[in-house]
Amino acid sequence: MRNKTLLDFTLDELKDAMAAWGEPGYRAKQVWRGMYHDLTVSPEGLTTLPKGLRARLETLGTMSTLSVVSQAVSKSRDTRKFLFRLHDGNTIEVVLMFYEKRRSVCISTQVGCAMGCPFCATGMGGLVRNLTAGEIVAQVLFVARWLRDPEVDGPDASPVPRPTTLTHVVLMGMGEPLANYDNVWRAIRTLTSPEGFGMGARRITLSTVGLVPGIRRMAREPQQVNLAVSLHAPTDRLRNKLVPINRRYPLKKLMDAVREYIGTTHRRVTFEYALMRGINDSLEQADLLADLLSGVLAHVNLIPLNPVEGSPYQPTEQRKANAFLGRLRRHGISVTMRLRRGIGIDAGCGQLRRRTVGIG
Ligand code: SAH
Ligand code: SF4
Repeated sequence: MRNKTLLDFTLDELKDAMAAWGEPGYRAKQVWRGMYHDLTVSPEGLTTLPKGLRARLETLGTMSTLSVVSQAVSKSRDTRKFLFRLHDGNTIEVVLMFYEKRRSVCISTQVGCAMGCPFCATGMGGLVRNLTAGEIVAQVLFVARWLRDPEVDGPDASPVPRPTTLTHVVLMGMGEPLANYDNVWRAIRTLTSPEGFGMGARRITLSTVGLVPGIRRMAREPQQVNLAVSLHAPTDRLRNKLVPINRRYPLKKLMDAVREYIGTTHRRVTFEYALMRGINDSLEQADLLADLLSGVLAHVNLIPLNPVEGSPYQPTEQRKANAFLGRLRRHGISVTMRLRRGIGIDAGCGQLRRRTVGIG
């Protein structure tokens, strides 16, 4: 598959490219409507355009950059993982989760990740490369299309009885989104543009390991997507070990950037905290966490750790996890526990890794 894709273009860039052929501005809008509203996959499907123009568009790039290698569905059928091949042979994973009222897709922003968190499957292989904006957008479009026509992309029995729509996007798959800032934001602009995919920014959540300059930059973006910060430890000593980038951006700097972000955006920030047995799950650590977050407009999302092969970290027992949660509540912290999802198919967000080729 070619790597040039129309999904990389902003609307203005497409207008410029088509203006060079003497086409009026509304043609580019028709292309965008076709790609992002009608979810068309190839220029031939753009039936509002003259035939010659459709052929010409092909020279600018493809409308889909992903081919499905395999799919896996969880036993409870509420989680589906897609493994995609990119034009250069690299593979990425995308997870679709069904909730009572939501259909949420967890997408990847890089092939691999350079941050090296020792409990994370993605981090173990290091960074291969950034995804382009088009490759990021393509994941969302693919899943939106799949939800609209659930049976088209796989011979297996569909867990979706009828066509439906995507309601949320989370950037919590493979990679660190703020380490690929420009491509990620170009993708977010296309996804939220009313002329593009038209998703509300508040339905999009970006999860970061805590890259301070990126958080400050995000605060100034007009698209107010939700920010989640992967904390996992209440002290620098422990966080240096679990989240090595903490040596560069220690808690004080991170919390200052978060406070500044909240000051500018007036938006609540979510802190992710994966509970690891005997490592970060004591009541004293809950107290320290409450101290760290006191006075901050924060929500804590406790995540049951997905054990990863080759890593010594194990999930906290349910009873202890509940006690940790109760302790935070007693300190007045807003906190919830994330459901265990997709464990059997290695499809917990943050559990994504290329070794799963072939599953499904
Ligand atoms: N790089 C970004 C986003 C991708 S990881 C980040 O770190 O925030 C998405 C989330 O999954 C992060 O909160 C990450 O800490 C978490 N995660 C990674 N490995 C995990 C595991 N084995 N079990 C549970 N959560 C994990
Ligand atoms: Fe990268 Fe996030 Fe995994 Fe850390 S947890 S290695 S930042 S993907």
